[in-house]
Amino acid sequence: MSFIDSTKIKECRIRKGLSQRELGELLGVSDQAISKWEKGQSQPSALHLIELTRIFDVDAESFLPTTQTESKRSVTGMKSLVELYKIGRGPSSSHTMGPERASREFIEQHEDVDFVKVVLYGSLAKTGNGHGTDRVIIKTFAPTPCKVEFDTTTIDIPHPNTMDIFGYKEGVEVAKVRVMSIGGGSIMYENKVVAETPNMYSLHKFSDIADYCKSKSIRIWQYALENESPYFLDYMHKVWLVMKDAIHRGINDEGILPGGLEVKKKAKSLYSTQNLWESAETRENRIVCAFAFAVGEQNADGETVVTAPTCGAAGVVPAVLYYQQLKNGYSDRQIVNALITAGIVGNLIKTNASISGAECGCQAEVGSACSMAASALAELYGLDIDKIEYSAEIAMEHHLGLTCDPICGLVQIPCIERNAVAAMRAINAVSLANLLWDSRKISLDDVIRAMRETGRDLDSSYKETSEGGLAKIKL
Ligand code: SF4
Repeated sequence: MSFIDSTKIKECRIRKGLSQRELGELLGVSDQAISKWEKGQSQPSALHLIELTRIFDVDAESFLPTTQTESKRSVTGMKSLVELYKIGRGPSSSHTMGPERASREFIEQHEDVDFVKVVLYGSLAKTGNGHGTDRVIIKTFAPTPCKVEFDTTTIDIPHPNTMDIFGYKEGVEVAKVRVMSIGGGSIMYENKVVAETPNMYSLHKFSDIADYCKSKSIRIWQYALENESPYFLDYMHKVWLVMKDAIHRGINDEGILPGGLEVKKKAKSLYSTQNLWESAETRENRIVCAFAFAVGEQNADGETVVTAPTCGAAGVVPAVLYYQQLKNGYSDRQIVNALITAGIVGNLIKTNASISGAECGCQAEVGSACSMAASALAELYGLDIDKIEYSAEIAMEHHLGLTCDPICGLVQIPCIERNAVAAMRAINAVSLANLLWDSRKISLDDVIRAMRETGRDLDSSYKETSEGGLAKIKL
């Protein structure tokens, strides 16, 4: 019987930037032995397991199957919000943001090349066409000409999202790198050990953060500023500018989204077409939805968005906040404080559960975005920390079990409309929390835990595999 999860060895090796041969040399075994361990065809000995924990700087539990580690999940803090709010081209943090970043870093380091060839492997090759990976790479290298090839046959690759970038000058190859898009817009270079970024926050439970803020009479965003770097506020202002820019572009854009579903961009008409019976409330809903559609459509079109907390859920937070800025005249700084509050909620979810549709379904993406937007709105309204928590809790609770089953694997149906619905839900959650907060029974930490467990139990056909639910519909 297998006592370790073979995929965990591969994950750790890649995170450390080691090839199978290099890891084998460190352990005194062949690269074929490492390959067999990673495929689950054999197991490392106890002595090798101890060596692996030393090389990867992890404890032995890291190699146990998830079901065994779940109950012992140990979290020691949280990363910077800069790692949550990432700026880049949609529609997918792994299939477009990561490759975009790799392309940008390559051209910055090799300004003299006059032609670039990129070869995509694994999942990048299989689904890169639908996600527009090639279009994003070509746009990033422009005006330098670039050719993108999809290699779906090579299987000996270090990571499912691997790409090779070749730089040429006057027909001669002058540079080559192999990069892996490891998720969330992050990349890793083959054979290059990258130090893990440190935790910026020692607390990782909402209850602890709330106690700390109450004891010092500060708001959540002030707690974040105590922990982040001096450049953090500038970065958050940039995040807000990019969010607003995506809304502006989206409500002025028309046409058909790429990918073959023939989905029409609707933000512009939603923004400008009044319902016949329109009251102030239905107008508010329509405008908030138009803003959410705007960002969702820009994301689906491969344009620049901010992960909040992911590309697929990028429209919820900006839609709620921008509507408030227009309606009530909140300053950019007030909005940034609300964004930081939302970031703490998103970071708690990311740290204690997941923000990945592939890992926990859409509850982890749009559900998390709704929870973030509710906490941001509660902060904008100046509600106290208990009401902020309750707003975020209601918003998350009523997304539990939400599946990820986009049609044809494109981040379009149901994703774009779902952002709009979640934005309206966030507003309602704050309204409920403001009136009912003193009778609540469930904490935000409780709901985050429930989300993780629900996501773990969700059948894999509902976790971004395009095998179940709506994804079975043929259009
Ligand atoms: S359905 Fe899946 S791809 Fe679409 S927003 Fe939700 S988690 Fe993301």
